[in-house]
Amino acid sequence: MAAVNDNYLKLQGSYLFQTVARKVREFEGSHPDVRLIKLGIGDVTQPVAPAVISALHRAVDEMGQAATFRGYAPDLGYDFLRAAIAENDYKKRGISIAEDEIFVSDGAKSDCSNIQEIFAQDSLVAVCDPVYPVYVDSNVMAGRAGDFDGDRRLYDRLVYMPCTEANGFVPDFPRVKPDLIYLCFPNNPTGVAITRDQLQAWVDYALKIGAVILYDAAYEAYISADSLPHSIFECSGAEDCAIEFRSFSKNAGFTGLRLGFTVIPKKLKLNGQSVHDLWARRHGTKYNGAPYIVQRAGEAVYSPEGSQQIQEQIAVYMKNAVYLKTALKDAGYTVYGGENSPYIWLKTPGGMSSWDFFDLLLNRLGVVGTPGSGFGPSGEGFFRLTAFGTYENSQEAIGRIRSLEL
Ligand code: PLP
Repeated sequence: MAAVNDNYLKLQGSYLFQTVARKVREFEGSHPDVRLIKLGIGDVTQPVAPAVISALHRAVDEMGQAATFRGYAPDLGYDFLRAAIAENDYKKRGISIAEDEIFVSDGAKSDCSNIQEIFAQDSLVAVCDPVYPVYVDSNVMAGRAGDFDGDRRLYDRLVYMPCTEANGFVPDFPRVKPDLIYLCFPNNPTGVAITRDQLQAWVDYALKIGAVILYDAAYEAYISADSLPHSIFECSGAEDCAIEFRSFSKNAGFTGLRLGFTVIPKKLKLNGQSVHDLWARRHGTKYNGAPYIVQRAGEAVYSPEGSQQIQEQIAVYMKNAVYLKTALKDAGYTVYGGENSPYIWLKTPGGMSSWDFFDLLLNRLGVVGTPGSGFGPSGEGFFRLTAFGTYENSQEAIGRIRSLEL
């Protein structure tokens, strides 16, 4: 008799953003007159850059001509895009990544959730707390979490690394030795970036204990400080212990177009087995390639006009981030992030719980953010705002928040 995969029953009942969406829907239903300011979900709002749109149009026209029509894309990505990535994201920064170490995909979410498949089932997996929920849920689906004990989930093979004010939101090495370590910097949700020395220390640690770091650099384009690393491969030894995920979503406004890539150096081997080759096998078997037109759009991101236009878009979001951070600080809040990241991580006033603060902002002010506790236990007492809105909406949100008595 058929049965469901009961690992799925170990997932938390309702995904964070579904709960937020439900509460927002209910509020909108009962307050049709209130203009909500939504600084919750981390989606971009500016339209796709003109250079990217032109490339899309050209590629669409090619698809309509017999001579230039393309069918299935190469599983691992078109050479033109892999070459542009290797050159612009790596070589220009002095990092040596070969084109065939780059696996093009439909985005970082799929890659960072699928990657765990190629590692041993009993791998001990360390994640930051708070965390982008996808790392946890994909490992729970894969059978690495225990059952619930009342309300508490027993994390069999999952280790939470608290990221708190005390450690500057960069985790300490866990007490138990993990096999896989998910790191994400600049971080979602805390908005905190990691320094090169801190990242090098993680690489050294992984090399020492034989762990693999799964490094999510989806927000690297928001780094403005020269001293901060854009890639884990800026650290020495990382090619022996790290995998990097990149996304065109937040870097170039592709959340609706869908494009990303994963870098696995050929040097990364476990018990003599090439991790690169296993991922190539997995990717080739389960994935049929990102669309040609979208890969051409991705290539245009690296053109002189494309990169100029995208820099301008990021500057718009970062202007919001700086404004939100400064204004919240002026209003008496303790605020983190927002400097090399589009996320603002603020401490709720008066020790209020994250969800109470969410309800207060929604119901009293019509401002939507994301409760920190939804990203993990150490997120309790924090609240995430994003800089992806418009400047006017950011100003409106601050105006409303200022009206709260702290
Ligand atoms: N990684 C992090 C940390 C994210 O916050 C997100 C999206 O919000 C993603 C990955 C997903 O990126 P993509 O749109 O490329 O799937």
